[in-house]
Amino acid sequence: MIDIQKIRAEFPILKEQVNGKPLVYFDNAATSQKPQVVIDAIVDYYSKINANIHRGVHTLSQVATDAYEEARIKLQKHFNAKKSYEIILTAGTTHSINIVATGFTSLLKKGDEIIVSALEHHSNIVPWQMLCERTGAILKVIPMSTSGELKMDVYEELLSEKTKLVFSNHISNALGTINPIKEIIDKAHAVGAAVLIDGAQACPHIKPDVQELDVDFYVASAHKLCGPTGVGILYGKEEWLNKLPPYQGGGEMIETVTFEKTTYAGLPHKFEAGTPNIAGGIAFGVAIDYMNSVGFENIAAYEDELLVYGTEKLLEIEGLKIYGTAEKKAAVISFNLEGIHPFDVGSILDKLGVAVRTGHHCAQPIMDFYKIPGTVRASFAFYNTKEEIDVLVAGVKRAQMMLS
Ligand SMILES: *Cc1c(COP(=O)(O)O)cnc(C)c1O
Repeated sequence: MIDIQKIRAEFPILKEQVNGKPLVYFDNAATSQKPQVVIDAIVDYYSKINANIHRGVHTLSQVATDAYEEARIKLQKHFNAKKSYEIILTAGTTHSINIVATGFTSLLKKGDEIIVSALEHHSNIVPWQMLCERTGAILKVIPMSTSGELKMDVYEELLSEKTKLVFSNHISNALGTINPIKEIIDKAHAVGAAVLIDGAQACPHIKPDVQELDVDFYVASAHKLCGPTGVGILYGKEEWLNKLPPYQGGGEMIETVTFEKTTYAGLPHKFEAGTPNIAGGIAFGVAIDYMNSVGFENIAAYEDELLVYGTEKLLEIEGLKIYGTAEKKAAVISFNLEGIHPFDVGSILDKLGVAVRTGHHCAQPIMDFYKIPGTVRASFAFYNTKEEIDVLVAGVKRAQMMLS
């Protein structure tokens, strides 16, 4: 069970007013808010232990290194990775995807095929297009249905010996669809292809088990699950991380350097060149602890209640259409009012203190599919309430009155 009053009290921003109205924050799919423990972790780090890691012999450097490596262990346990060095700390999902996409340049040849889902975020499309340009590989797309679900029968037809890589998000940020990733992974493995799953949108709602999924790469950003911006993870199976070349050269990622030849450090340091976001990494670990203390089962059940309630209330509005009606769906509602531009709805909601996202949500191909310029997207988190949904619904009604 979620003790909503207790949880809300832990997020200082929820007491803020925006445009003279209490903040109703429904842009959680873009970034989540931060509980006090995460904010404290960042302040404490800079106030008490700030030092560079993995280098100094002095005490603070060792304390900082221990705290940073402890965060890695927390992440290893959370995602159930076999080894802690299979967890690479990165700047976030986009960075993680680019490490893999760039690394595959030397592993692909002309005519090889890469499959991506039609539900992708731009950060999961563009790096693969760039990879295809570099290698002559061909990009294929798993199409989607009007409900926002992937056509798995077409996926099966696309798979062949030529398929080297498959990419899908775990949950679509634009529509909320929960994709059948276990099936995607197993079918790809049957033809010998590797799979990368973008978990940026899934990790705030569910706890993935990378060994059970048998996934080759899994990526996520801390800021979507109550952690700070600018830090994330790349989980990779040890054998894959060993096959991939380093992404960036620099300090920390080397074993020995001479002007003739440099040898690279082992995992995870091979992929962690330069001074990382140390405070961010530590706070990421704290955010994971916090989310686990609330409990992912509780979070999922409560958010599902919000989703059902919000869907029902919004659909009572005449002329409102919801995009993305998959059977398995996370707490994201993408919608439009007939004849009204989503941006105008979003602007009126903002004046009422309600934060939603409007636009294409970094997923233009999905908007093209529905032939719309964008949607209004309300995405819920476990610290939101039904009362806040009522404020949203009243605001949407008001926008409709003012704009039609
Ligand atoms: C937010 C998001 C990303 C990008 O994450 P960054 O933290 O901006 O790198 C990628 N994929 C999905 C599904 C997302 O929701």
